[in-house]
Amino acid sequence: MAERVKVLVTVKTYPLPSESYGELVCTAGVREDGSFIRLYPIDYRMRPYGQWYDKYQWIELEVEKNQKDPRPESFRPMPGTTITRIGKPILAKNNWAERKQYVLAKGVQNMCELEQSPLGERSLAIVRPSQVLDFTAEPCERDWKPKFKKLFEQKKLFGPQQKPLEKIPYKFSYSFKCEAPSCKGHTKMIEDWETAQLFRKMRDKHGEELAIEKVKETFLCRMCAPQVDTHFFVGTILQYNAWVILGVFWPKKEG
Ligand SMILES: [Zn+2]
Repeated sequence: MAERVKVLVTVKTYPLPSESYGELVCTAGVREDGSFIRLYPIDYRMRPYGQWYDKYQWIELEVEKNQKDPRPESFRPMPGTTITRIGKPILAKNNWAERKQYVLAKGVQNMCELEQSPLGERSLAIVRPSQVLDFTAEPCERDWKPKFKKLFEQKKLFGPQQKPLEKIPYKFSYSFKCEAPSCKGHTKMIEDWETAQLFRKMRDKHGEELAIEKVKETFLCRMCAPQVDTHFFVGTILQYNAWVILGVFWPKKEG
């Protein structure tokens, strides 16, 4: 059953190759009541610019429950649905007041409890680390798997021209303690599109080594500064049922 949903986008992951679509993005956000929703798959870069959206943008589209995905928050955009942007993205003014109204409406979870929650109970949440310990970059494969490289070649021949999707040769992770009193700490990859974008931009300007420093400066020193009330959007990866960080929510501490 198709339904029309209104979603405040809070998370957009870096695209991943897909055999059927070329590449796909996972988007997550909240509905007007603050409940989380995942929109997948979205062939983001193949869509017209008019359907592109930033974080904290309200969008409307037709979706249906994704039967292949048991996670309760997962919905699939209907084939051919248009993504309509409603107004302008919500700004960070008044210390993120309007963003908080929706994002924090259902409260925060703690990572230890999420890790122990039964499969299929919940797959998106927001957590507030009690302490962010580190942000690291670990080298990984420099290129896509051969099957995806072949696929991109084919797309180039038959599909619209667009910049090829770049493989990011690092995995970025946060180490943190959550609010559970017995927490022994968590290390979680961050899959935010913005992390990859910042890395690429800085790498083109300063080279790889300095780019990693710059990414760390933003994602650790700025987003997790002592005066910042850092939260992480977290979600599970279907194949591994493992939690990863999808984005950072970082208003200032109040009071
Ligand atoms: Zn914990």
